Amino acid sequence: MFFKKKSLGQHFLRGKVLAEKIVKELAIEPGDVVVEIGPGEGILTDIILAQFPNGEISFFVIEKDGRLIAQLKQKSSAPWYHVYHEDVLAFLMGNCCPRGKKMKVIGNIPYYITSDIIFKLIEDRRYISHIVLTVQYEYAERLFAQPRTKAYGRLTVMVQTFCIVKKCFKISRLAFQPIPNVDSAVVRLTFREMTENRRAIAYRQAVYEQMVKYAFSQRRKTLANNLKPLLTTAERKQIFESFLGKYGFPEFVRAEELSAEQFVDLCVHIMQ
Ligand code: SAM
Repeated sequence: MFFKKKSLGQHFLRGKVLAEKIVKELAIEPGDVVVEIGPGEGILTDIILAQFPNGEISFFVIEKDGRLIAQLKQKSSAPWYHVYHEDVLAFLMGNCCPRGKKMKVIGNIPYYITSDIIFKLIEDRRYISHIVLTVQYEYAERLFAQPRTKAYGRLTVMVQTFCIVKKCFKISRLAFQPIPNVDSAVVRLTFREMTENRRAIAYRQAVYEQMVKYAFSQRRKTLANNLKPLLTTAERKQIFESFLGKYGFPEFVRAEELSAEQFVDLCVHIMQ
């Protein structure tokens, strides 16, 4: 009898049809390098292995719970299937990525570290083309939210700065064992092309993160008010006013009205 650990977010998916639908969203093709985060008992793993029985892909699975490792290893002895007993947050993605290749990442991930995993993957984006994740439904709503909605906030902007987020489909909580308290959703994150502006942001990501944090620090206040700690010089205030003018924003605009692209634009000019 396998006792599922709540501390590791162990809600295992039941239902092959649903699992196949999730894997389909990853659009795996022969020649791909695929990484699965938190395979658990391997419901997604089994489907991927069955789809490519002759090793047309390289497949890495990363599981933290040592009790599941033998079972995962038994699934295939093929040299292109690799089981890692590791914490994904410490895992060096670059180690499984051949030069010039980009990996596809999938995971029905543990809820207790959803943001940590997403931001780690964003950090490792040079190795990754896209990601399919099953996350809590309310969290998913924040990922694909549009400006001027309640769910739109700091998380949305940080993720949408680097990724195009697609809501794939909702999954009822009843599809998991044990049944969690909330429903889930499958989302697909595809990394955006690195434009000059985005590269500038990536280069000084801490500054960008700080700006977005300030912007949303008090949602009811105006953007100008929230950004006061950054608008410290006459030059910066001028840049901010020009920014408002460029997009036709009134001076009382709030952070939730700006798209991720507009945040990038503002930050690039303020950093100059
Ligand atoms: N993918 C399986 C499924 O759909 O049934 C399991 C999903 S369960 C929500 C999350 C899995 O992630 C568990 O197997 C858990 O042990 C594993 N896990 C939790 N924390 C982890 C970490 N830091 N690194 C790698 N795996 C982790």
